[in-house]
Amino acid sequence: MAGYREFHRRSIEDRDGFWAEQAKLIDWHKPFGKVLEYARPPFAKWFVGGETNLCHNALDRHLAARGEQKALVWISTEVNQEKSFTYREVHAEVQRVAAMMVSLGVKKGDRVIIYMPMVPEAFFAMLACARIGAVHSVVFGGFAAASLAARIDDARPSLMLTADGGSRMGKTVLYKPLVDESLRLAKNPPAKVLILRRGFDVNMRNVAGRDVDWQELAAQHAGARVACTWVESNEPSYILYTSGTTGQPKGVQRDVGGYAVALAASMKHIFCGDAGETMFTTSDIGWVVGHSYIVYAPLLAGMTTIMYEGVPVRPDAGIWWKIVQDHRANVMFSAPTAIRVLKKQDPAYLSKYDLSSLKHLFLAGEPLDEPTHQWIAEALKKPVVDHYWQTESGWPILSAMPGVEKTPLKYGSPSFAVYGYDLRLLRESDASEAGADEKAVVAIVPPLPPGCMSTVWGDDERFVKTYFSNFSKKMVYSTFDWGIRDQDGYYFILGRTDDVINVAGHRLGTREIEEAVSMHANIAECAVVGVADALKGQMPLAFAVAKDTSKLVSAEGRKHLEKEVMQTVDNQLGAIARPRAVHFVTLLPKTRSGKTLRRLIQALAEGRDPGDLTTIEDPGALEQIRNSLKEG
Ligand code: ATP
Ligand code: MG
Repeated sequence: MAGYREFHRRSIEDRDGFWAEQAKLIDWHKPFGKVLEYARPPFAKWFVGGETNLCHNALDRHLAARGEQKALVWISTEVNQEKSFTYREVHAEVQRVAAMMVSLGVKKGDRVIIYMPMVPEAFFAMLACARIGAVHSVVFGGFAAASLAARIDDARPSLMLTADGGSRMGKTVLYKPLVDESLRLAKNPPAKVLILRRGFDVNMRNVAGRDVDWQELAAQHAGARVACTWVESNEPSYILYTSGTTGQPKGVQRDVGGYAVALAASMKHIFCGDAGETMFTTSDIGWVVGHSYIVYAPLLAGMTTIMYEGVPVRPDAGIWWKIVQDHRANVMFSAPTAIRVLKKQDPAYLSKYDLSSLKHLFLAGEPLDEPTHQWIAEALKKPVVDHYWQTESGWPILSAMPGVEKTPLKYGSPSFAVYGYDLRLLRESDASEAGADEKAVVAIVPPLPPGCMSTVWGDDERFVKTYFSNFSKKMVYSTFDWGIRDQDGYYFILGRTDDVINVAGHRLGTREIEEAVSMHANIAECAVVGVADALKGQMPLAFAVAKDTSKLVSAEGRKHLEKEVMQTVDNQLGAIARPRAVHFVTLLPKTRSGKTLRRLIQALAEGRDPGDLTTIEDPGALEQIRNSLKEG
């Protein structure tokens, strides 16, 4: 492991030298003076004085060598369409959208909210903002009007981009009525709204003076030329509100130069994506994974990126692998939740297609339990790389780095601290460093490396207070996740610091219990929450999805499997962790980004009001939890 270790050591001990070298991966219009300015901890400024542009680095600089190469392949199984755009074509489309935005009064530094489905126009719009130095804030097309209004009031955009509608699982989802409602609720609505008509709402009415028709305006700007606006490295590129699994959304603000360098370096050292190759990231542009690995990073690397509007199981559970085969995808990035969905389907889909182009499958977003990790790795016969990061970091914090060294993978582990991160496991009590196999808080000694959030939009104080004030003895960045490092130096994430169950004085992570429940051969996925218990303080309660449900039709069958699952937990963790009950459901409540809403399950289990439900993917999952609780 000398290669990886040395690489990481240098990134911390010779920070300036290391990042100056990585900075050569992108073009600078004006060279930076200082690699890092850290006069006001914890605020880090990277590549100070340097001028660059994300859009130039993603598009313009590739035109000479790969103008005719595909930059974007858009596939929609919702409207059954597929379109490809070369680098030259994307370059033209982006300039056209940039010209449209300029004509609507957008200037450098202005915010533009993009509330759109997964369509090429949304992709062009993000790059168009970057091109003219405007700050985009993509809001996931699925958030309710009130959530959207809260983001509008925080970002104060001068323009909003939307569409008449989108489609999910073949069902039309109208966007425009929701946008109208959010603008009624907002205190600072934008003056203009640009609306793409996809034909989902033939009766859509524009608000005079405010709403502008995308296609009409686009027709006026065909062939437009808009030069890149050079911006200082530390100016904001975008705001992205965190998904809200844990509460009040925060506007994560990202810079330009540091982000470009971090992404370009990650394509080389972590994702092993080379120019001319193809990347398929199954996320959504509304999430950080979509920003970094659908839009910016693959283009920075000169790759073809695949943008997919659809779900993993429609028309059937082979659709992703068909896409990999048909487009010869080399790098794939997805989430554990999707893999667990596929695990419930016929495994034959995984061997039906030619996946020989694929080098790695990367998975992130939530804990990848050992059985699922093993299952997918063996089914694909490819290295499956679990990696860990956050909206705040913008790129991986923990990962294997096959571009640096091919270290062996361990199931259930996102491997090692990525270069640039001075990662520590700190004891909650006194911020001292934990030893091997000791559970502690995952923390990062600042400065955070390039690409990480610069601040909370409009609220420096909140940035410091939220992330850097959790240990009174040391100013460190807290990830709010528990982790452990084994004897070989591999990390394991044990769940969020707020997902802890206190059973008669023993502190148990919900993740650990979930992992134990999943060890039972008939469990596809599960959620464990702590519920108040008069005797023990708290008790774990499990909700599980079975692979084979045929034996669960009778109460007797359910009791039998429940007993077996409890036995599995006893064997793995001890009786102290045994759930009070195991309820069987066919679906767990999740955010639209695929994260289990434990907070919500817990509220229901304790008979409390579950609160804001706008981030939930399928309300039917809540019904199931309610019903299973009623049944006892
Ligand atoms: P919010 O911060 O708004 O409450 P969130 O934390 O779910 O929402 P994200 O930034 O998308 O929003 O998620 C980052 C979190 O996801 C991490 O802090 C961690 O808890 C979890 N996570 C991501 N990747 C992994 C992984 N590979 N293994 C374990 N957990 C992971
Ligand atoms: Mg978070």
